[in-house]
Amino acid sequence: MFFSLAPRTRRRALWAVLVILVLSMLSTLVWLAGRYEVTQVQSHIERDAADAVSDIRTALTRNVQSLQALQYADHLTVPWMQEANTMLREHREWLRLELRDTELRVISSVDTPFRAPVFSRLGRAANQPEVVQACGVARRQSGPGYGSSTYVPQVDGLGLEIMDLCLPVITNGVLTGYTIATYSLSEILVNMVGPQLTRSQEVSFTESDGTRLAMHGTARRGTRVFVAKQLIDLPGHNMVLRMDSWRGAPDLFPNVLTALVTAMAIALVTVLVMLARDMRRRQRVELDLADALAFRKAMEDSLVTGLRARDSEGRITYVNPAFCEMVGFDAKELIGQSLPAPYWPPEMVDEYGQRQALRLAGNAPPREGAESVFMRKSGERFPVMIFEAPLINALGEQTGWMGAVLDVSEQRRVEEVSRASQERLQATARLATVGEMASLLSHELNQPLAAISSYATGSMNLLQDAALKDPQLAETLSSAIQRIGQQAERAGKVIKSVHDFVRRRDQAREAVTPRALLDDVMPLVILQARKLGVRVVVNCPSDLPAALCDRTMVEQVLLNLARNGMQAMADDTQHKVLTLLVRPAASNASSRWLEFLVADLGHGIPEGVAEKLFTPFFTTKQEGMGLGLSLCRTVVEQHGGLLSLQPNIPRGTVFSFTLPQS
Ligand code: ADP
Repeated sequence: MFFSLAPRTRRRALWAVLVILVLSMLSTLVWLAGRYEVTQVQSHIERDAADAVSDIRTALTRNVQSLQALQYADHLTVPWMQEANTMLREHREWLRLELRDTELRVISSVDTPFRAPVFSRLGRAANQPEVVQACGVARRQSGPGYGSSTYVPQVDGLGLEIMDLCLPVITNGVLTGYTIATYSLSEILVNMVGPQLTRSQEVSFTESDGTRLAMHGTARRGTRVFVAKQLIDLPGHNMVLRMDSWRGAPDLFPNVLTALVTAMAIALVTVLVMLARDMRRRQRVELDLADALAFRKAMEDSLVTGLRARDSEGRITYVNPAFCEMVGFDAKELIGQSLPAPYWPPEMVDEYGQRQALRLAGNAPPREGAESVFMRKSGERFPVMIFEAPLINALGEQTGWMGAVLDVSEQRRVEEVSRASQERLQATARLATVGEMASLLSHELNQPLAAISSYATGSMNLLQDAALKDPQLAETLSSAIQRIGQQAERAGKVIKSVHDFVRRRDQAREAVTPRALLDDVMPLVILQARKLGVRVVVNCPSDLPAALCDRTMVEQVLLNLARNGMQAMADDTQHKVLTLLVRPAASNASSRWLEFLVADLGHGIPEGVAEKLFTPFFTTKQEGMGLGLSLCRTVVEQHGGLLSLQPNIPRGTVFSFTLPQS
């Protein structure tokens, strides 16, 4: 059941169990240490009490012997009274010595010299029952007998607890009397218990019900007191010796052991608390980290840019899913791979290796990125843009490079499509022009063809009517046939130029003289010039160097410009001259250029139209396509030249463009 709990609850429960266990273990330890200490003190006091009892017993036995010595003494030389007096001086615990006969009548008695006679207040008779009891025991046992202790009030108002010792006097085996010694219980304690036992504890005699009879030593009140009780069984009387000790009353920290255990317990609990705090902090940091990681992962996974990190040796240390998808390799196949990388096309390995060596030598790649070609796992090559930045670790040291890789194949495809569509547009424009030309051609070819047919008809008639009689006729005939040939040749040229124009050729650049370029377009230009009644002036020095260009395209440009110029003059009646001029351009020394000018005397270009001229599909003509000039500019710029225009003086416009010399 415990394991089925949620991890968080389980962790808390574990912590609670741990804390409870540690706390209970520690409190048990402290309690046990305290208990141990109490037991130590208790056993010590028990020992002391036993020592005290043994001291008292020994002293009592010795006293009995002293009394016996008193009995056996020769009372003729030293009277009993004197002897007894001497002994009383030696034994402060005795209050009185008596010699009694067998009927317990006092024969002689001596009181201790150290205090007033004990029985002076109530008289000795008051204690007779105890004496009888003691001597009864003594007689029965033929040894010492003790009477019960009794309280004897004193003349000074105080009182004394006394106990009688009765020793039978046996002379020649016959009981002849008794010696009785009266003990002061408190003096017994003072004189018979070793001073080391009473210095720090209180010793007292009690009755079995706990009533205190006599005491010695002073107990410090207010502290916890240890008590030990020992029974003293004397023949005829039993007493209890009680010992009270205040020594080492165990507090919370009774000794070093308990204090040590407690200190360790506190240290343990503190460590536990600190551990718990640390754990909580760690958990919080872990959660934050997990959040940050999840965020980073989501970010990386959603990126379409491939990310790739490499260490300073060029080994791949990280790739994101977008990169893997791009190159078609798994992260496992890439990470740890050294140079050459598996996505390098084999034919580029040398070049890329050199580039890499430069990078590792510390040359930073351009910030705007570098274009490169990668290879997918399938072997397909694709263009990429790589943006690389140094990978800096937390200590600020560079550990490698981080690269963002963009697959630009789609971009290239779009560029290709737009280029193709531009080409198609060009072709369409060309076809439109061709269509226009074709209608002109059909019109223009009519004249030479009509001429051919009429010459031919004439020749036929002449041949039929006059046969070969007349030589003059023969000459005329040959001249007519010659003209037929000329006209046919002209028609052929026209048709060829149209054919050449329409046919699409490879965009190869070749060196062509300006004259050759003009010659090629002239038939078409003249064709239109005739239609519009324009005079065409060509100024092309024959010593000009050749231009390096795509012949067909440049011819198209010339044709376009010439046609535009002529159309601009179409409505004019007087100024209908189109000038085609070729000259070396005023260029710098390093490269030399040729400049082509097409000048008309037409209506010119109004303000506001000039800036839109080169915009595709801008036209002011009803049937115009608006593509001519924009295409012309593209063609010229592809050759590195410049297409420009300025007003012609006094009227019209001059379009000029430059081409490099071969
Ligand atoms: P299109 O000839 O089909 O109209 P172009 O791009 O060749 O397309 O020319 C765009 C426009 O530029 C023309 O419609 C015309 O208004 C103007 N233009 C071009 N050449 C001349 C010129 N020599 N004189 C006056 N206007 C011109």
